[in-house]
Amino acid sequence: SAAAECGHQPLTPNDVKDLLHSVDAFLFDCDGVIWRGDVLIDGVRDTLDMLRSMGKKLVFVTNNSTKSRRQYAKKFHSLGITVTEDEIFSSSFAAAMFLKVNDFPKEKKVYVIGGEGILDELELAGFVGLGGPEDGKKTVELEANCLFEHDKSVGAVVVGLDPYINYYKLQYGTLCIRENPGCLFIATNRDAVGHMTDLQEWPGAGCMVAAICGSTQREPIVVGKPSTFMMKFLLKKFNVSTSRMCMVGDRLDTDILFGQNAGCRTLLVLSGVTNLSTLEDSSNHIRPDYYTSKLSDIKKLVLE
Ligand code: PLP
Ligand code: CA
Repeated sequence: SAAAECGHQPLTPNDVKDLLHSVDAFLFDCDGVIWRGDVLIDGVRDTLDMLRSMGKKLVFVTNNSTKSRRQYAKKFHSLGITVTEDEIFSSSFAAAMFLKVNDFPKEKKVYVIGGEGILDELELAGFVGLGGPEDGKKTVELEANCLFEHDKSVGAVVVGLDPYINYYKLQYGTLCIRENPGCLFIATNRDAVGHMTDLQEWPGAGCMVAAICGSTQREPIVVGKPSTFMMKFLLKKFNVSTSRMCMVGDRLDTDILFGQNAGCRTLLVLSGVTNLSTLEDSSNHIRPDYYTSKLSDIKKLVLE
């Protein structure tokens, strides 16, 4: 079939049997796989329960930096899903862990263009964060004699989705980076758009990151998917080989690429941003090993 020629195929009962046999850990993207916004996707809870009862390791990897791991744990619990914080890898957590593994000095500060989730993770890791939502109401006076002051002890700027981005934050982050060549520029993720509401896509973190690229002429270090940082980090934590892992996601350029870059099997679900025509379009070169309509197909097919 055309699908098979593309190098991917709809998930079959035999594929599921093989997957369950050869995979010890499933990595799940969250939005579009587990939930859509704040609504759990049909059949997810039972499917996760089934995988757990089979002894599979479950890990949740989200590019959404607006929450911290503990905020995500609350969200999972409110949706009736049992998880522990250490099974959750958010791009907010990844930003803090990147600084930690690179021995970022505790006496330096981190300027945040983004949400509470990033500040929360920085604080938990022992770093001092500045900016974030607090700077959302600040304005600038563009008068001839105005001099914008910034804290010279900032050694890193972290940029994620920020619905309250403004000219104050742009100038702050820009000065930190431009006036200190050693300042790190970290992007939680570069998703072009995201489902901030049920009915529409909105500019994603990639938009805020691009603003700082534009003013600084620097490229960021990306810590979220598809970067390998989170994968390396979680591999250290869980003693599983990538050849026995399967990444399940709804985005080709973040989730599927993330899994492929690490040598995991990949399963695309069509319950999020990607539909079959995008997958099969000749302009798409990212091919998952399998695709299926939604996560719960795993449970449905195992019974067939
Ligand atoms: N970033 C933001 C701000 C989002 O709202 C979303 C999805 O809703 C994402 C990223 C993508 O999250 P995930 O990686 O869980 O699909
Ligand atoms: Ca997703």
